[in-house]
Amino acid sequence: MTLGSTLLALIYRQLLVRCYENIYTSAIFSQNKYNNMIKKIGFSLLSAAVLVGCVATTSDDSSKTSASARNTSQEISASYNSINSAQLIEHVKVLASDEFGGRAPSSEGERLTLEYLTEQFKAIGFEPGNGDSFLQEVPLVSIEASNDMTLAIGGKKYQHGTDMVMGSSRIMELSKLEKSELVFVGYGVNAPEYNWNDYKDLDVKGKTVVILVNDPGFATKDPELFTGNAMTYYGRWTYKYEEASRQGAEGAIIIHETAPASYGWSVVKNSWTGPQFSFQRDDLNKDRVAVEGWINSDVATELFDKAGLNFEQMKARAAKGSFNIDMGDLDASITVKNTIKKSISYNFIATLPGQAKADEHIIYSAHWDHLGTDLTKKGDQIYNGAVDNATGTAALIEVAEAFSKLPNTPERSITFLAVTAEEQGLLGSKFYAANPVIPAAKTVANINMDALNVNGRSKDVAVYGLGQSELDTFLTAAALKQNRIISGDPRPAAGIYYRSDHFAFASIGIPALYAKGGKTPADQATADLRAKLDPILGKCYHGLCDEYRDDWDLTGAVEDMQLFFEIGVELSNEGVWPQWSKTSEFKR
Ligand SMILES: [Zn+2]
Repeated sequence: MTLGSTLLALIYRQLLVRCYENIYTSAIFSQNKYNNMIKKIGFSLLSAAVLVGCVATTSDDSSKTSASARNTSQEISASYNSINSAQLIEHVKVLASDEFGGRAPSSEGERLTLEYLTEQFKAIGFEPGNGDSFLQEVPLVSIEASNDMTLAIGGKKYQHGTDMVMGSSRIMELSKLEKSELVFVGYGVNAPEYNWNDYKDLDVKGKTVVILVNDPGFATKDPELFTGNAMTYYGRWTYKYEEASRQGAEGAIIIHETAPASYGWSVVKNSWTGPQFSFQRDDLNKDRVAVEGWINSDVATELFDKAGLNFEQMKARAAKGSFNIDMGDLDASITVKNTIKKSISYNFIATLPGQAKADEHIIYSAHWDHLGTDLTKKGDQIYNGAVDNATGTAALIEVAEAFSKLPNTPERSITFLAVTAEEQGLLGSKFYAANPVIPAAKTVANINMDALNVNGRSKDVAVYGLGQSELDTFLTAAALKQNRIISGDPRPAAGIYYRSDHFAFASIGIPALYAKGGKTPADQATADLRAKLDPILGKCYHGLCDEYRDDWDLTGAVEDMQLFFEIGVELSNEGVWPQWSKTSEFKR
């Protein structure tokens, strides 16, 4: 806890009773299904919720004692209320227009998007966020494995597409393994906070590790194990390859099973076919394992049989605790030929320097890119990406404008980052995290916006990764003022928290918030609209029909943006450093 000053302790004691009742009874903590989460976050967070809620109500008092000029609550309200859907729509219409061509990285649409963002942020008095530039260069590379890849284990050759897919993150034309010994490493997890290490006492140099997907909590449904059914980052396939690389393995093969992966084999096959994007690095990604791949569960069963092991038994054992075992004499020979292509794209970064602590930043993020134009299509060829993510990009401008309208600049700097190549695997944000313009230690928090609600107001705010950090308490306090409650991730097992740009911030230890209007409509009219609109929105996700529509209702998006604005105001004026919860895998 970093909120422990004498002043705050006093406020805390004075207002404890008044605020405790409000917050405790009306927000997340009253919901039975989050009992587990309460346990996870612990009492410190609960008291933080009380503090935040209370500090927010006393901001007028603190403005009298502060050295620098503070905004009154009326001034903050005026900015808050200036966020509106009319302007949001204007920005969305431009960004999602056919002229912008679906905003593919390194396209003419990128040039137009960056130009538009620069104009807009200059007009509201923001400064370049990267020295004297609004841009951060992101060198991209695509690696496409040819279909004649080979995998041979124990004398048998396996078929590309039906049995396996292989690839490499190394920026090299040939990736090859010869007779690399196989070791089964269970879930492939090294998680000190859960006292779990599948690589314990194991040297995997030169070897190929075979790994289960998801994590032991999902496998056992035991709420005491990891986070039970909800996926931790240790369950994501990206983590499996990263950890295998850290351990020094030569190859890493994940066993696909539909339930724990949350998608079928065809998704693995399709997404691993065609170019895979990465960003250029001087070391050519040589710190990654040479070969990354998947096999399906039939192949896995066969391999375990050959090794004199039983797949189901080994799987059950792996869910009980740290586990690894040699797969007998089995070894893998793998050849992958790659075609390498390079291009340049950009992250956009603008800042409003803080008046007291300019070196400390709150970063709002959204990806500006989408899927571009597909000339092989008949008729409509443009993936306009109106919801995904012209809305989030437009929201950056709107929230920034609200900050620019405050008569007194906030104490800390407010920075807006529009990242590229999210659709290619969060590349712009990952590149930023690897090359942060603002040091991670000086970044107070990240608030990410991806695909705003266009279907009206919600009674609840859905938080992806609920319970990860104390940012939840800021959100809870702000939501209470809108008479809204906090709800959790609607699909916890799918690991959405690890699938948008805030995750890159989390991975370098910066508390990151990803939230949006939830599933409960505010009123009957909204429920009716959703009955009509939601099937269309679902069908158009990543489709050619993700275009601006006159029947969108952006009042819910406006409420969400107001929440994010309010959290930014709180964070910029209190000297608070929100913390990760004790068991978070991102604790810094
Ligand atoms: Zn998106």
